[in-house]
Amino acid sequence: MSRLDRRTVFADTMTARQSEDLTPDVFMIAGFGNTTVAVTEEGLVVVDVPAGSSEKILETIRQKTDAPITTIIYTHIHGDHAFTARDLVEDARKRGHRKPVVIAQHRTLAHLARYREMQPYNWYINQIQAGRGFMRPTGQEKFIPDDIVYPDVTYTDSMSSKLGDLTFELHHYLGETEDGTWVWIPERKTAIVGDLLEGSCPNIGNPFKVQRYEVEWAETLEAIAGKNPEFLVPGHGPLRIGNKATEWCLDNARYLRFFHREVVRLLNEGYWIEDILHMVQPPEDLAGKRFLSGIYGCPAFMIHGIHRRYAGWFNGNASELFPSRSTVIASEMMKFTDPESVLKRALQLKVEGEVQLALHLVDFVIKGAAQKEQQKAALLLKADLLDARSASEVNQIARNIMLAGAEEAEQMAKTL
Ligand SMILES: [Zn+2]
Repeated sequence: MSRLDRRTVFADTMTARQSEDLTPDVFMIAGFGNTTVAVTEEGLVVVDVPAGSSEKILETIRQKTDAPITTIIYTHIHGDHAFTARDLVEDARKRGHRKPVVIAQHRTLAHLARYREMQPYNWYINQIQAGRGFMRPTGQEKFIPDDIVYPDVTYTDSMSSKLGDLTFELHHYLGETEDGTWVWIPERKTAIVGDLLEGSCPNIGNPFKVQRYEVEWAETLEAIAGKNPEFLVPGHGPLRIGNKATEWCLDNARYLRFFHREVVRLLNEGYWIEDILHMVQPPEDLAGKRFLSGIYGCPAFMIHGIHRRYAGWFNGNASELFPSRSTVIASEMMKFTDPESVLKRALQLKVEGEVQLALHLVDFVIKGAAQKEQQKAALLLKADLLDARSASEVNQIARNIMLAGAEEAEQMAKTL
């Protein structure tokens, strides 16, 4: 099986299988990212428009109603929620309807400014994360579409508006992003929560991304559970109804609070990041739950994310405060051994199932071997080890990083 065939396959906990009618006037359109539509006497309100889904959204809507789309709400400005409003605006124009009003939390504007400033970087990390292979950016890549629709209306903490019989309460939260919005329709006891719920353990420590907010995330989920929603539309994964909706919120909240508590406790006891990573284990009753599995978020990543929020980057070892380059350290180490025996030991470790440890050994040869042929052999072994390591990795982001690393190692080997 090729590397591209082994890249991310989003598990069904993260992808709703079918669109569903919550009530006669509210429906969910299933996709990798979900869309919710509310039908009011004053037009349609659409929450989230994931990239690549506009055709399905418009088709599903038009099978049900010809009413104009008056409002589009972004739960946050990520591609799988917000990058395809242009097609809905265009559809409105063709139909002679007024342009839909796009609403988002005001920090969406700052997020968009950052994305514009860092288009190639965001393109680069998302190529790797999505398993599209390893390619260095040239500095010209685009991450957000040129025709992305900016919000017409923004709010700070909350806003509420009534359209026909339905009230739309928009609440700001800090969670996976700083511009999060969750929507509450009290008349239908419906909560549309964006990536507060993702069908995996919360992705608060993504290896590539900016700071995320575990305590506020938990608080928001507890507030949503406090409303006793009858229907809960997550950003990813299937619709949840009744008790299951509340349970999902509270399980995620408890999971987030557990990791926060453990990381903070261990910091207070004087442990450094390496210890903390190896000491914290998720609570058993929650770790076994299907909708909290580590397929997208990941316990180790959560620890990193939380640690970064409360501590600096120093790892506790004074030798590494101003470290030498790893290539210099490796070439010194290689003076005491021959690369062949290190690679031989790495192969043996692989057979013994210690693939991670084998990778560390191989890196010494890549960085420190005197001869190019030795480095090349080590790079090819690294690609092989990363392939093997990725095969047993449940986390999709980690798996894709390993597959990209394997590809990078092979590319480097060709240049030697
Ligand atoms: Zn998402």
